[in-house]
Amino acid sequence: MDKGGKLIVFSAPSGSGKTTIVRHLLKQAALNLEFSISAASRAPRGEEKDGVDYYFMDIKEFKRHIKNGDFLEWEEVYRDNFYGTLKSEVERIWAQGKNVIFDIDVVGGLRIKKKFPKETLAVFVKPPSVDELKIRLKNRKTESEEKINMRIAKASIEMATAPQFDFIIVNDELEKALKEAEKLVANHISKSLSEEE
Ligand code: 5GP
Repeated sequence: MDKGGKLIVFSAPSGSGKTTIVRHLLKQAALNLEFSISAASRAPRGEEKDGVDYYFMDIKEFKRHIKNGDFLEWEEVYRDNFYGTLKSEVERIWAQGKNVIFDIDVVGGLRIKKKFPKETLAVFVKPPSVDELKIRLKNRKTESEEKINMRIAKASIEMATAPQFDFIIVNDELEKALKEAEKLVANHISKSLSEEE
């Protein structure tokens, strides 16, 4: 893959508020960001739209992309729920002269950091506690009890990977977390690649 702009990864347990942070950053025109739309094998939830929130596809199509080597990274995030970043997606955004922002799971986030160490800023968003996470997921009312429990179980494992990220933002106060995220991203974007180690 030809290299282009910067890569900004936001990873966190489901329900930690990273999507809210990513949406906020996308509104900041000065950051010149474009959202990396992932491929997903799950069904759309609520108001989600194909080609906007995800490229929704069935498992068969997803596996065909794996076989073709089309993914920069992919993961079976939950059983039978595959998610992945298509190489063509990053190329599409870089071709527009923009920086790519990812809202992906911790394993995928760290993989991107490993593939593009200089270009990537990897940020982990930490919920105040696992109990708070449970409350947020329940309030979202988009998943069944079983799915919520599956996400909570995974959250503890994901929390343990936080030290491997470049920065950790604790999302206990949203306004503060948004400002911190803005500052981190602006700083990363303003650096030339030769300055970064
Ligand atoms: P959700 O089903 O809540 O939209 O997403 C479930 C999890 O999959 C989240 O942690 C989300 O960040 C992650 N995810 C979304 N897209 C990707 C991707 O392209 N790659 C990886 N590895 N994880 C992803």
